[in-house]
Amino acid sequence: MENLVKGQTGLWEVVIGLEVHAQVSSKAKLFSGASAVFGADPNTQVTYLDAGMPGMLPVLNKFCVDQAIKTGLGINATVNRVSIFDRKNYFYADLPLGYQISQLYYPIVTGGYVDIDLENGKSKRINVTRLHLEQDAGKSTHDLHPSLSYIDFNRAGVALMEIVSEPEINSSQEAMAYVKKLRSILRYLGTCDGNMEQGSLRVDANVSLHKPGTPFGTRAEIKNVNSVRFLGQAIEYEIARQLEIIESGGVIVQETRLFDPSRGETRSLRSKEDAMDYRYFPDPDLRPVVLDEARIESIRINMPELPDAKRERFIKEFALSEYDANVLVAEKEVADFYEKIAAAAKGNGAAKLIANWLIVEVFAAMNRDNKAIDNLPFAPNHLAELVDLIIDGTISGKIAKDVFAKMWESGKAPAKLVEELGLKQVSDTSVIEKAVDEVIAANVAQVEQYRAGKEQVFGFLVGQVMKALQGKANPGVANQILKDKLR
Ligand code: ADP
Ligand code: MG
Repeated sequence: MENLVKGQTGLWEVVIGLEVHAQVSSKAKLFSGASAVFGADPNTQVTYLDAGMPGMLPVLNKFCVDQAIKTGLGINATVNRVSIFDRKNYFYADLPLGYQISQLYYPIVTGGYVDIDLENGKSKRINVTRLHLEQDAGKSTHDLHPSLSYIDFNRAGVALMEIVSEPEINSSQEAMAYVKKLRSILRYLGTCDGNMEQGSLRVDANVSLHKPGTPFGTRAEIKNVNSVRFLGQAIEYEIARQLEIIESGGVIVQETRLFDPSRGETRSLRSKEDAMDYRYFPDPDLRPVVLDEARIESIRINMPELPDAKRERFIKEFALSEYDANVLVAEKEVADFYEKIAAAAKGNGAAKLIANWLIVEVFAAMNRDNKAIDNLPFAPNHLAELVDLIIDGTISGKIAKDVFAKMWESGKAPAKLVEELGLKQVSDTSVIEKAVDEVIAANVAQVEQYRAGKEQVFGFLVGQVMKALQGKANPGVANQILKDKLR
């Protein structure tokens, strides 16, 4: 039980259930024709319905329903043939209708699961309770004017999928892995862009502690966390806070808390004791959503390959390690990019070497220069070409790093750079032999040490040979010749 937290009174188990709000990638809102595109001037994408004017009727956006179906299928869930929209009643300035249209008793999707990959190489299945469709609220801003609040209704009525997990997540690591994996699946499906900075994906984390074998403890809910890193920090803070309270004899109150990234702590927003009774009831303006099998089937047959399936295929087809395959499939764009280059390289074992190069050198350069995979300074087939140059012995792996740096700077083809810069590897044995003879003659003391049994000196001597040939000697050949001559 590596996940247990040690307190003064013994070991505690952390229990976490996540509610993820994923904005449906749709041009229009859930019940009105207004644009749902992010970033427009305030209150320019608001119909009478979105503004809560009397007498307006909602019309369900079929595209959004299809996205919820697709997402349900993507997490191996049951798509319900009948679901019902309910009104969740509460008064708030950014909720012009006085209620949110949501689904409580009959959600469109139930069940399903997400398999998460943990750092110890194991995976864990997290079951999903439900996925329902609902509207987003508007956005209030309180810091633009000393005495006034501003409200932007552009977001009011935008379609959200709320995806609720079972309380089966047992650490901040697992919670972060769950959100990353779910986000990856949504992006593969194209049903949500997963942009956490713009709020297209927000997480509520329910956290509690209990002693294993005893009933669950009372939970606190941390609302609207908008980055994976903050989620980890918020949960860690919450675990420590609750542990201190329980162990000093206090009780956890069920409440809603907010995470403040600048202080790294959660703060109480409201307690559940004075939580509102939402007086849910079926929205009389909307008929039940009835899906026929043909509609679900037509979505099912067009499902893209998802990360888990792609990972298994990469392992089989390209002989990749589990780890490499996982890294490459996390983002669909990276996986596509990799597959394109792997197909272009001809050398034996190129696919595996390309994976290494992508994960180590290319990712590092991307991070350094803040570049995205669709915006690299070199043509994709140039990476294939570079790897082929290593495999056919034209350059060593070490020289290839220099070529890569030049390729990144200039966008030139690697074969051309090798030519221009005279970096071709020396495999000609007579040239290498001559260099080896010179090194042996110039390092009499070290050669004696080696012959007397001090084998570490060999590395030094190889280094001298490589230096004499400006790093261009074929390392395998140089090693062999040196060994033979020292014998
Ligand atoms: P609410 O409507 O108050 O948000 P839900 O029943 O929808 O309540 O549950 C919300 C989330 O809380 C779910 O993800 C669930 O797994 C999680 N949860 C329920 N009980 C606990 C608990 N004791 N500790 C941690 N998470 C919990
Ligand atoms: Mg909740």
